[in-house]
Amino acid sequence: MEPIVHQGLSNLVIQMGNVQIRSYEAKNIVKASIEPDLLKKQEIEANVLKTPKVLYNWWKEHSLWAKDLAIIYIKEAQKAYRDQQSNWTQYLGWAFHFITDRATPYHSPNKLNPLINSIQDDFEEGANSLKGFSVKSQIAGGLLNVGANIFSKAIDLKINHDDFEDLCDEKWISCKNMISEILLSLKKPDRSIINLSFIKKKINYLHEKYKDISLKWINTNNNYEKYMAEIVFVMDLAYQFIFKE
Ligand SMILES: [Zn+2]
Repeated sequence: MEPIVHQGLSNLVIQMGNVQIRSYEAKNIVKASIEPDLLKKQEIEANVLKTPKVLYNWWKEHSLWAKDLAIIYIKEAQKAYRDQQSNWTQYLGWAFHFITDRATPYHSPNKLNPLINSIQDDFEEGANSLKGFSVKSQIAGGLLNVGANIFSKAIDLKINHDDFEDLCDEKWISCKNMISEILLSLKKPDRSIINLSFIKKKINYLHEKYKDISLKWINTNNNYEKYMAEIVFVMDLAYQFIFKE
């Protein structure tokens, strides 16, 4: 998702949650909710030669591994919170990011798997074919070719993915109030039944329900608002879990 959606969703969790946190803590959580993407962009800027590898890891982490990463960071956030370390907010923001990514179509493994496999093959092939080169510029040129190949394969997926996220981004401001209304109508589970396996189940449920939704679907009825409210609902489970005694 685009930053406006990641941050908007995080803000809603905090506003709608029954927990009082300090305003700088709220700000840190919201800021951290877009960091997993920012960090990848910085990695690419810092070392263009590593671009295919970074992109490959980016896709993998933000699709196949998104649920596992969300759970890891929920645990870290709870531990840090209990130890009274201020970075619990950062871990929680990262967990929020990965919950949303897991619920985003076009991030789903059935769409990405063939692409990821071909990216890895291309990358390894490209890297092998460059082994003999010693001049840095030649290596750079070679890797750029590998990158171009990957991008042409990725382009179909990327168009769908970008269109979807752009649409979600555009609709956010005008639909925000409706999302809050729907959220209020969803029955919150009792905090006593919220544990990691319950959260895992709900992340899987989000993924299965939304992995194949289309641009048309998101524009129909109040599907967009319901979809976003359900993501907030699951993020809120993570939020409640952190403060559990
Ligand atoms: Zn992401």
